[in-house]
Amino acid sequence: MTVNDENTIRNEVRAWLADNWEPECGLIEWRNKLADSGWGVPHWPTQWFGRGLPVKFNSIIDDEFEKVGAVGVAKIGIRMLAAATLLDCANYEQKSRFLRRMLTGEDTWCQLFSEPGSGSDLAGATTRADANGEDWIVNGQKVWTTSAHHAEWGLLLARTDWDVPKHQGLSFFILDMNQPGVEVQPLKQMNGHASFNQVFFSDAKVPAENLVSEIGNGWKVAMTTLAHERRGADALRRWGKVSDRDGRIYAEERAEVATVMEPYKWYPQRAGRVDLILSRALETGRINDPSVRQEMAKLLMLSRSAEFTAQRARAAQEQGRPQGPEGSLGKLASSHVARQAAKVHTAISGADAMLAGEDSPLEGVIAEILLSVPATSIAGGTDEIQRNIISERVLGMAKEPRMDGGPFRDVPKNPTRER
Ligand SMILES: Cc1cc2nc3c(=O)[nH]c(=O)nc-3n(C[C@H](O)[C@H](O)[C@H](O)COP(=O)(O)OP(=O)(O)OC[C@H]3O[C@@H](n4cnc5c(N)ncnc54)[C@H](O)[C@@H]3O)c2cc1C
Repeated sequence: MTVNDENTIRNEVRAWLADNWEPECGLIEWRNKLADSGWGVPHWPTQWFGRGLPVKFNSIIDDEFEKVGAVGVAKIGIRMLAAATLLDCANYEQKSRFLRRMLTGEDTWCQLFSEPGSGSDLAGATTRADANGEDWIVNGQKVWTTSAHHAEWGLLLARTDWDVPKHQGLSFFILDMNQPGVEVQPLKQMNGHASFNQVFFSDAKVPAENLVSEIGNGWKVAMTTLAHERRGADALRRWGKVSDRDGRIYAEERAEVATVMEPYKWYPQRAGRVDLILSRALETGRINDPSVRQEMAKLLMLSRSAEFTAQRARAAQEQGRPQGPEGSLGKLASSHVARQAAKVHTAISGADAMLAGEDSPLEGVIAEILLSVPATSIAGGTDEIQRNIISERVLGMAKEPRMDGGPFRDVPKNPTRER
């Protein structure tokens, strides 16, 4: 990036904000303006609400938004994975129908991938979609579905062919969550939140035009979603940030965070809250304990090197390289950081780390960190799965022996799984 390019972009966005930013504007109205101007997602194509700019300019644009307190497009949650997936894999009509409302925040999405018998083994999904005239009829069960309880749309991975090897028999659909054949049941987590759900399908319908890509190409589309999810893992600590300023738009944004974003409010804790370590160590005096200092130094080094990995992944993206195994490296690094952070928080707070409520350390935030950190090693593919990907695709090591190469119908399954 030359200084000239940087200055031109900075001046352009600054001038646009000076002419358009208005804190008394309604949230949806403002986000529609952002979509029309391309400044909400400047790295998206100009045809689809962006300006076709390299990702490297995003930080300059974010910086200018922050200076005037301007609100951005709706970026948090599964909708951004949905957006990235549709941008890469959907047809013109699907993009026209769905992308704008993702940016304005009018539609919430969920990711219907994991099932009771297939999480790591995602390609073993047995939720089925059968063609019936113009529609697909969906039957089966998903689980751990974040935000399903208030989602308008779901990204569904379902089996459409049982007679080919398992990866080839899956298709990818956009499913309307508000229909009689979809039943959503929330699940309570050990940290007290209920972000997940189990979702049951009984003859749920998907119209033909909601098939993404081609029949049997679902695995490839799902991998696009997961690559974006893994790459985004390093951004967890920034989620849920809202402004306390006066103005209609800020009030509407706060209301959005309190409802639609509710499932994500523990996500910064899930990432380990490295940002709190130094102040907590100073506050409690544990900074003077050499063994605690040692662990703190280890954490800060891990955290910094994870940032470098994330920067390398961003640099690859800026150079237009396809999503690769950097996502797995970054995701694994974020698990190491989160676990080490939980260890250090425990060393700093001692037994008080287990307390919740008003008079506990940081009003229960430390306890929430300890209970939420394990999720980082599971969501979006477990640590073991990331290690398998790194060993096979980065290091070129021998692949795990496979026993499931033939037609999926003949692959041994759980007795409860349909054949
Ligand atoms: C916070 C959070 C949010 C989530 N949100 C969603 C969502 O919105 N939508 C969705 O579809 N899913 C979601 N999930 C589910 C998540 O994708 C799965 O939990 C994950 O893929 C692991 O699958 P599983 O739970 O079935 O565990 P399993 O696959 O049963 O794994 C159990 C253990 O076996 C290990 N293991 C499995 N296979 C191998 C192997 N080949 N080699 C070595 N070890 C192996 C695993 O690493 C793990 O330790 C979410 C999970 C979390 C924690």
